[in-house]
Amino acid sequence: MARRKIFAGNWKMYKKRQEALDLVKGLLAGIADIGEREVVVFPPSPWAKDVADLCRGSQMAVGMQNMHFEQEGAFTGEVSPLMVKDAGCRYILIGHSERRHVFGETDDDVNKKVMTALKNDIEPVICVGELLKEREKGLTEEVLKRQVVKGLAGVSAEQMKNIVIAYEPVWAIGTGKVATPDIADEAHRFIRKVVEGLYDAKTADLVPVLYGGSVKPDNIAGLFAKEHIDGVLVGGASLKVDSFLDIVRVK
Ligand code: PEP
Repeated sequence: MARRKIFAGNWKMYKKRQEALDLVKGLLAGIADIGEREVVVFPPSPWAKDVADLCRGSQMAVGMQNMHFEQEGAFTGEVSPLMVKDAGCRYILIGHSERRHVFGETDDDVNKKVMTALKNDIEPVICVGELLKEREKGLTEEVLKRQVVKGLAGVSAEQMKNIVIAYEPVWAIGTGKVATPDIADEAHRFIRKVVEGLYDAKTADLVPVLYGGSVKPDNIAGLFAKEHIDGVLVGGASLKVDSFLDIVRVK
């Protein structure tokens, strides 16, 4: 079985409601003939349901950018997995570097969110990636291994069919400094090896590993050509119809 190819756009805290709807409509018009590729958008939570309603029956799925790990409760300002599901979302971003490094999310939080998502039939896109200082100290593999192992603690081989991993080196996110295709592919290969160690070769072979970090129309081809890069998670370049479509439609 071939690995799924996924092109995801993380809109972060951008786009008012009408802008979000216009962006989705533009994308839907441009992806009718992309074959097996999956497209996913992560709009701001208040618009997730509106975006999901527009995407119903199309090749574009919707996710939220964050949620709490409890089903419900006195957690002011948080979104519960029940609400993510109710809004029509298929995916949830978990452990994005901005959640880890700006909001202090730990590997333990990431793991709790992964388990809650699976319990609620929501597919986690688990983000992992090293800081620049960790790469410079030669700690990249150690950091990736820790984040993958802790993030997946308690996930069964069967549940791995619903997991996507995104390698997003923190030094490449929003900086314009994209990882070279070789650097990214090596990290993806390593992540797959870690998954194989936890499960088996078949599970590792099937898990989609996306690259994220300053992906643009002019660098997507080199990245997507690599054996272990199964798609991308795009921030800035996913905010405009043309640039995201150029990425999604890469040859
Ligand atoms: C991201 O937010 O996940 C991301 C990769 O951002 P950018 O593409 O802007 O670097």
